[in-house]
Amino acid sequence: TVRTRVAPSPTGDPHVGTAYIALFNLAFARQHGGQFILRIEDTDQTRSTDESEQKILDSLRWLGLEWDEGPDVGGPHGPYRQSERKESYAKYAMQLVDEGKAFLCYRTGEELDELRTARRAAGGHTALKQSDLALPEEEVAKRKAAGAPYVVRMCVPEGEGVCVVEDMLRGPIELEWGMVDAQILLKSDGMPTYHLANVVDDHLMEITHVIRGEEWINSAPKHQLLYQYFGWDMPKLCHMPLLRNPDKSKLSKRKNPTSILYYQRMGFLPEALLNYLARMGWSMPDESEKFTRQAMFDNFDIQRVSLGGPIFDQTKLSWLNGLWLREDLTTEQFAAKYQEWALNPEYLMQIVPLIQQRVETLSDVAPLASFFLAGMLDISEADFEHKSLEKDDIRRMLQYAVWLLDTENQWDKDRLFSQLKQLADAMGFKIRDFLFPLFIAIAGTNQTVSVMDSMAILGPDMTRARLRHAVN
Ligand code: ATP
Ligand code: GLU
Repeated sequence: TVRTRVAPSPTGDPHVGTAYIALFNLAFARQHGGQFILRIEDTDQTRSTDESEQKILDSLRWLGLEWDEGPDVGGPHGPYRQSERKESYAKYAMQLVDEGKAFLCYRTGEELDELRTARRAAGGHTALKQSDLALPEEEVAKRKAAGAPYVVRMCVPEGEGVCVVEDMLRGPIELEWGMVDAQILLKSDGMPTYHLANVVDDHLMEITHVIRGEEWINSAPKHQLLYQYFGWDMPKLCHMPLLRNPDKSKLSKRKNPTSILYYQRMGFLPEALLNYLARMGWSMPDESEKFTRQAMFDNFDIQRVSLGGPIFDQTKLSWLNGLWLREDLTTEQFAAKYQEWALNPEYLMQIVPLIQQRVETLSDVAPLASFFLAGMLDISEADFEHKSLEKDDIRRMLQYAVWLLDTENQWDKDRLFSQLKQLADAMGFKIRDFLFPLFIAIAGTNQTVSVMDSMAILGPDMTRARLRHAVN
């Protein structure tokens, strides 16, 4: 039976690219009466967080992408979180070492830099192979005795030659071995790298088709070689074209929101977002633009994926979302959706306490609260005019705030305040002045509830998007 998987790393916000890849894996599995698995690739322990994992699960589920096996639903091939499978990776790495297909490497970071620099100077490939990395035996013995850290690297062919990898959409792809490093399989802390863990798990989880982003094509030779080393059948590989910004560059949050949570906050329907993602590189046989998930599955054919980079364009998505909102919902359903999105008790109870203190009549509520229920605000340069701040200062404040908040992953009011206060100090502005442009960007006015509260409630995605909107 067909088994596919999506294997996100929980290192940030749930990415629309993850949903896109998940959708195609699910469609392929359903079309073949197979299973779709969700696996969490959290071997990078410094960057992975539980919070990010939870957001990924929640947002994929919100979109209606359900998995047959996964960390939360279990299944016969668990655990489905790589951090809980640690022991098995080391065992497989050591098996390769014993068989002479991998080796221990005691090289230090500085030595690796030197080797690479020398390579570059000589004009050759910068890939480092086992022979490049070798140390004299006495040196190895010395480092070993001193308990120096080491990594396990895989042996890869040295010299000329190409590796041919078969791709379901592209046919045979030729890649030069000269470009391929003696890849680290096991890091010095005993954790596997993506490459080892991914291959071992795809095998143990009996994955038959790996459908993933094009960015992984260059890794395919190493993976293919690992399957050969272990004597395992390799799943069929299918590399999907990456989503692109309207200017054709790779979709990036600097140019286009990439977090699924942003689209949720903006008031897109999950059905519409999924419909739009289905159209990224794929089309229905009759070329219809609006269709359900089930219609996609009924008509799915992976060979209809076109390799030209699909453009993720918010304007088109909004248009499609409008069709869903206008054509598919009764007035009652629409009202219920709106209530669930805007007026749900959880959200209201965050907003109301801030507003209650400022009103004389109930009719004062809506004007004060409207920015909590809006998308991008209709603001212009004039709104940012300030008696003692220059235009350039305001620009810099907003830009620096964007940069700061982009990397902030502890999103609570106190933390936000202390971070922004530090930034204001470092830039030499009084916090009062510094908050002014933030107020305008976030709420459209400074005659409203505290901007820290507002940012905390609006959440990272909408906050960042509004700040970015203000910078542009
Ligand atoms: P960076 O800007 O650091 O490269 P990113 O935006 O690529 O980050 P990642 O955290 O690297 O985001 O990726 C998160 C997930 O989204 C990965 O599974 C990745 O394959 C997928 N992804 C990222 N960019 C795209 C894209 N343009 N198209 C499809 N999937 C993508
Ligand atoms: N963890 C990888 C990612 O985040 C998985 C890539 C793959 O599907 O092999 O994209």
